Amino acid sequence: MAYKDFVPSQGHWLKGNLHAHSTVSDGDLAPEQVLEGYRARGYDFFSLTDHNIYARYHHEGLILIPGFELTCYLNGKRAHINFYQKGEQSLFHNGEEFDVADDEATRRFIERARQGYLIMLNHPDWSRLEYRDVEGYDCFFALEVLNYGTEYHDRVGENAYFWDAGLRNGKGWWGLATDDNHNGYTTSPGWPFDHFECDSFGGWVMVKASQRSHEAIIAALEAGHFYASGGPVIHDFFVEDGVVHVSCSPVQRIVFKGEEGNFVRRLGAGITEFTAPLRRNKRYVRVECIDEAGRTAYSNPIYL
Ligand SMILES: [Zn+2]
Ligand SMILES: [Zn+2]
Repeated sequence: MAYKDFVPSQGHWLKGNLHAHSTVSDGDLAPEQVLEGYRARGYDFFSLTDHNIYARYHHEGLILIPGFELTCYLNGKRAHINFYQKGEQSLFHNGEEFDVADDEATRRFIERARQGYLIMLNHPDWSRLEYRDVEGYDCFFALEVLNYGTEYHDRVGENAYFWDAGLRNGKGWWGLATDDNHNGYTTSPGWPFDHFECDSFGGWVMVKASQRSHEAIIAALEAGHFYASGGPVIHDFFVEDGVVHVSCSPVQRIVFKGEEGNFVRRLGAGITEFTAPLRRNKRYVRVECIDEAGRTAYSNPIYL
């Protein structure tokens, strides 16, 4: 009986956004407004990742993961990577700013921080990166498979192609969905979260954590015990005796993806499950569930 589930059976499902900006860098809402907006919509955890600055926050009702977005250089190209603090211990002091000028400085920064921080490769398409630009880095625990802000505004936030390129080449990246919200509106002003230009609440992760705590969330992220979503819910996803199963909220398309082509799919109105034998998925299989509005949930790969 070979059985592999996508998350542990015990634990709490917690919802979070791990990429967001405020007036501390180039966002248009104060930190407290951002945090309260997400708390009020039922988020459990949050990371306010302003550009090139380490800042600590507290907000009643939200578990806050200290983090920041570093402007760096990968293979000579300007890029952005996010850092998430694993525990209480910080390498940086509150308000510390960063200035990383080239590839060499990027590598030094990563080497210094990687023990205490999870590091994510942000929006590779928005940064116009190619897979070869990041091939030489083994520091990323995940990439943004969906960066909602740049997808909604610029149509460059969906990175499943880049993710698959890494997975085929043995990178153990998990896939996160985030908002990368800046909450700046170029047309009429209005209530910041009730506006057609709003870049909040479109991409999140659902983490299965052993407890409602910073450390448990970090452990679940590191282990891949989560899925990414722009809408649909994945209730279960597992492989048993060479057969893949998924159950989810009502969607229109379910696609199993592996290392090679030959994808296996089910289409239908309001479908909530799909079961199919593995086909040519040598090392892993993952699933995407897409609703009628085109919103997608992405599982992490299950390694076979
Ligand atoms: Zn960025
Ligand atoms: Zn950002």
